[in-house]
Amino acid sequence: MGRVGLAVAMGCAAATCSIAAVLVGRRVKSWRRWGRAVGVLREFEEGCATPIGRLRQVVDAMVVEMHAGLASDGGSKLKMLLTFVDRLPDGKEEGIYYAIDLGGANVRVLRVQLGGKRSMILGHEGESNPVPRNLLTNSTVELFDLVAMTLKHFVEKDENGHKLVVEKTKELGFTFSFPVKQKSVSSGVLIKWTKGLFIEDTVGRDVTQCLEEALARRGLNMRVTVLVNDTVGALALGHYYDKDTVAAVIIGAGTNACYVERTDAIIKCQGLLTNSGGMVINMEWGNFWSSHLPRTPYDIALDDESQNRNEQGFEKLISGMYLGDVARRVLYKMALESDVFGDAIGGLSTPFALSTPMMAAMHEDESPDLREVARILEETMQVLVPLKTRKLVVRVCDIVTRRAARLAAAGIVGILKKMGRDGSGGAPTGRTKSKTRRSVVAVEGGLYAGYTLFREYLNEAIREILGEQVSRNVVLRITEDGSGQRLNRDSCRQSQTVRIVAGLETFSNIDCAFVLQVIFLYY
Ligand code: ADP
Ligand code: MG
Repeated sequence: MGRVGLAVAMGCAAATCSIAAVLVGRRVKSWRRWGRAVGVLREFEEGCATPIGRLRQVVDAMVVEMHAGLASDGGSKLKMLLTFVDRLPDGKEEGIYYAIDLGGANVRVLRVQLGGKRSMILGHEGESNPVPRNLLTNSTVELFDLVAMTLKHFVEKDENGHKLVVEKTKELGFTFSFPVKQKSVSSGVLIKWTKGLFIEDTVGRDVTQCLEEALARRGLNMRVTVLVNDTVGALALGHYYDKDTVAAVIIGAGTNACYVERTDAIIKCQGLLTNSGGMVINMEWGNFWSSHLPRTPYDIALDDESQNRNEQGFEKLISGMYLGDVARRVLYKMALESDVFGDAIGGLSTPFALSTPMMAAMHEDESPDLREVARILEETMQVLVPLKTRKLVVRVCDIVTRRAARLAAAGIVGILKKMGRDGSGGAPTGRTKSKTRRSVVAVEGGLYAGYTLFREYLNEAIREILGEQVSRNVVLRITEDGSGQRLNRDSCRQSQTVRIVAGLETFSNIDCAFVLQVIFLYY
């Protein structure tokens, strides 16, 4: 080889080397960036860890806080509110019934016709109207006027409706799913708004009075005789189907729980007497807090930016209103720290751009190339990502959901423990039948009912905490799952009058059972 040839060869080798070096450099950088994204994931995963030891601590913290909340008002972040509901009856009614519900972003009214005896439900219809966004924060009068108007339109649509309104005063039940300090079974003062409603002038006022005034303004001759929240409704419905139902949990947009407590254990209300010796306690557990709850910087940021900072801490880790946004915050951090989402951050920085049902759909995407994940990321947050990144996204969803479900499970076991139904009283023997009592927990809410993996994680964690033997006697039952058939009863109380009773959320046959429950409670 001549000199020229040698020089050319050397030049080529040098060029090849430098290209290789650039390529290797790029690869190394890309690995590093990928490593940073994985680092974000790992750190988040560690922060969300819920090993069995920690779950047990949460169970015990729940029990301690329940005691404290029952001991005195303000004794705990758990309000442990009295409901004045002292028994959970069987509904056996005949006639036409109305239900009304204000529990979040919707007002719902339901009318159901019950045939009595064996043909219980002859028909039912309902109406659900969204509360316009501005009314969520405007004024008490406007909000309750909307409720009254919705009811009035609905009642008047009925042929006989008008006659009903002008007849003697009608009794009205009202499901109002916000923390209320109940004064009686039919009245109570709003403690605070949650779930996106913030109308300052309602706080501290009797919501029954607010509704009755609105009804009067609209010319409706009705009187509130029942005021309950959705959790108590779920317990009543659960009990209607199954007498072993002792507690109810809502896991939807928000979360809450109630259970039957012995009156002598309600220390803050000494001398409280009920025929049954018990009373349903509305825990308002969304506000539960314990240092044992695993909390990450993402949760802290979400709380800081929320309208109710330092409140509803448990709810912010568990419920549908927040889970999607926790996941979005982690993805956003990944996008900032690495290039796994490409150059475009898209909607990743937009609060609540990722809803919990969207997160669930990504989590449950079973297609080999995670097509659904790709579609949702593109449609909701305008980001296009390769398969490798989609897998990371699914991992994030899994971590958020698993933590939520396991913490909710620990909360449920806490309630069972407070009631002496967690098996910790010792191994069951032939004679101590009470130790093997069956305990049914009614569960309601879109997150639990609609999100299979959430439900599986929750059920699995209950088994893990309680052990196989005890958990065999604990049944979690979705209150919306039954059929109208179960409403059949041999005898029904006769009722000629049309009454409006406490309401519910959806318009299935099952809801009608709840209507029955509530009717029987108070008549
Ligand atoms: P609310 O608490 O207003 O009564 P629901 O019990 O109807 O709400 O539950 C609705 C909430 O549940 C939604 O806001 C959503 O966060 C969550 N949700 C509903 N369906 C699903 C689903 N398939 N997967 C995950 N979350 C869901
Ligand atoms: Mg609800």
